[in-house]
Amino acid sequence: MTQRNILITGGNGGLGQAIARSFLEEKPDNIIWLAIHTRRDRAEALKADHPERVRLIQLDVTLPESWKSAIKQMEDALEPVDVLVNNAGKHDDSLLATMPVESWQSIIDTNLNAVFHGCQAVLPGMISKRSGRIINIASLSALLAPQGQTNYAAAKAGVVALTQSLAKEVARIGITVNAVCPGYIETEALQGMDSEARKNACARIPMRRFGRPEEIAAAVRFLACPEASYITGSVLKIDGGIL
Ligand code: NDP
Repeated sequence: MTQRNILITGGNGGLGQAIARSFLEEKPDNIIWLAIHTRRDRAEALKADHPERVRLIQLDVTLPESWKSAIKQMEDALEPVDVLVNNAGKHDDSLLATMPVESWQSIIDTNLNAVFHGCQAVLPGMISKRSGRIINIASLSALLAPQGQTNYAAAKAGVVALTQSLAKEVARIGITVNAVCPGYIETEALQGMDSEARKNACARIPMRRFGRPEEIAAAVRFLACPEASYITGSVLKIDGGIL
């Protein structure tokens, strides 16, 4: 077995944690690099449980310099990144007519520009190895844009288009690039919803429930596994049947 270096951004968040656990369970030689931003409690707890296989790395995904330094630290310690999961993201919903320009910029920076910077940071290493997997966490909002999310939906739709375009650029050098579009998943990202909003959202989901982080993590793990070698440029929605 050969060691795989797996970098997961948003490593302290709900999906980031589930994705990390899923890779830890998959194979003993998966080394998980959890990128942390402002919060680190859950990432530190996972590292304490798996001190040999979990490493923490400071990364602001919006800053190219931060990516460069994170990737350098990884490459100095180990081989280049084998799997990048661009998972960090956030939303800040409001109607476009009154949306502060800072909100637009911050959401495009964190969800879309970050994916550009991340891909650009890991590609030299992947190209030199002629292999690699990039999995971008987009959103159902990319495919079914709700009102109040012009910033987030545009950013995530950009992630889908970036995924499809980049997949074509790197397919012949053994690198796959895919996107996952989760619907409503039970993480802190949904904490802002009141009970009425949750009830209304559930009623629109054919499965009548929100997804679990593990249900997204399983798809991410699959897209990174050897058997998924012919899947690239794909956009997988995981939404309990909404779309
Ligand atoms: P969380 O809020 O639990 O996690 C988001 C993570 O992103 C946090 O770890 C946060 O770190 C990190 N992050 C935010 N800004 C930055 C930054 N500038 N640099 C580095 N990291 C940053 O949300 P989820 O786990 O639910 O979301 C994960 C991904 O899934 C996101 O891209 C989200 O858009 C997407 N998604 C989630 C859905 C859901 O229903 N939960 C639905 C569809 C898509 P910190 O807190 O330290 O800032």
